[in-house]
Amino acid sequence: MSSVAPGTPLDPADPSVVATRYWHSLDDGRIQCDVCPRACRLHEGQRGMCFVRARQQGQVVLTSYGRSSGFCVDPIEKKPLNHFLPGTPILSFGTAGCNLACRFCQNWDMSKSRDLDTLADAAGPEALAAAAQRLGCRSVAFTYNDPTIFLEYAIDTALACRERDIRSVAVTAGYICAEPRRELYRHMDAANVDLKAFTERFYRDVCAGHLQDVLDTLVYLKRETDVWFEITTLLIPELNDSDAELEAECRWIVDELGVDVPIHFTAFHPDWKMTDRPPTPAATLSRARRIALDHGIRYAYTGNVHDREGDATLCHSCGARVIERDWYELLAWRLDARGRCVSCGTPCAGVFAAQPGRWGAQRQPVRLAAR
Ligand code: SF4
Repeated sequence: MSSVAPGTPLDPADPSVVATRYWHSLDDGRIQCDVCPRACRLHEGQRGMCFVRARQQGQVVLTSYGRSSGFCVDPIEKKPLNHFLPGTPILSFGTAGCNLACRFCQNWDMSKSRDLDTLADAAGPEALAAAAQRLGCRSVAFTYNDPTIFLEYAIDTALACRERDIRSVAVTAGYICAEPRRELYRHMDAANVDLKAFTERFYRDVCAGHLQDVLDTLVYLKRETDVWFEITTLLIPELNDSDAELEAECRWIVDELGVDVPIHFTAFHPDWKMTDRPPTPAATLSRARRIALDHGIRYAYTGNVHDREGDATLCHSCGARVIERDWYELLAWRLDARGRCVSCGTPCAGVFAAQPGRWGAQRQPVRLAAR
């Protein structure tokens, strides 16, 4: 194990390279990273598949602590989270790299970056929490790429945010091993988990991963934490959008997670290594939403399209539209101060303030590093 405490810089002159906890030595001289199921086995000087974790001085280090590919204040609906402090601004940031290899990646300029110069902005946890407060954000999102691979930075930021009553949100593929999963989610208040498909074949052939590990994360979040979470499935024509697959996914969600976990079916656009597929038709998203509702899921949404029906939150008891949206913008609000339907008094699942936020649909890029 490391002689340097996890989270501590190896070299005080370079705070972006810090010691980590989850790895072990192998008999053949390599070191295995135990953060995600990819289990990279590294020789001295090698980087893991995620690119930001590497072996240096006989240990696995994180090489992107405090470095970001950019900061932006977004509507929280963009994460997407529709049931967690709706209408509020969230300070979003990510680093570089990813531990999956999705051929359709919609964020590939950051997640697939092999160039640490992408990490043009810098902010330590304290500076980030202070910026979030100054900008009027209720939460900070670890997004653009997966906080799994920069968990030491994400956790320290979440701790600094909690001191200022600012919540932390993980936007993640859920591809993480059990021990780091426990540590990461102890510090998170909400998450959006990508469930990229519901077949092992899709995860293996399209993402170079495994479905079961993601399902394990979802079950863990539901059964063993208070983290509010929602699911996103990006629908790709003819790859993961069949009725049979969507029905299997919705059945599993109802059986294992219950009816109150919201699901977002979002539209694919051709990108990265998948330019041979057309964009997802709006009708596919509506069909998926209908399947989810028919299976008993109470909150099913369409995403990346203008669809007032698919954007609305319905009261599961009386059917009233308790929240209406247009894409990321809140329109009507029919919940009382305790998050209950004003028509019939039935609680809506989620985390709601007495009043909705008024941030709207705007995105506001911000620069945090001293110039
Ligand atoms: S976190 Fe990175 S280095 Fe560690 S196993 Fe996963 S891909 Fe490999």
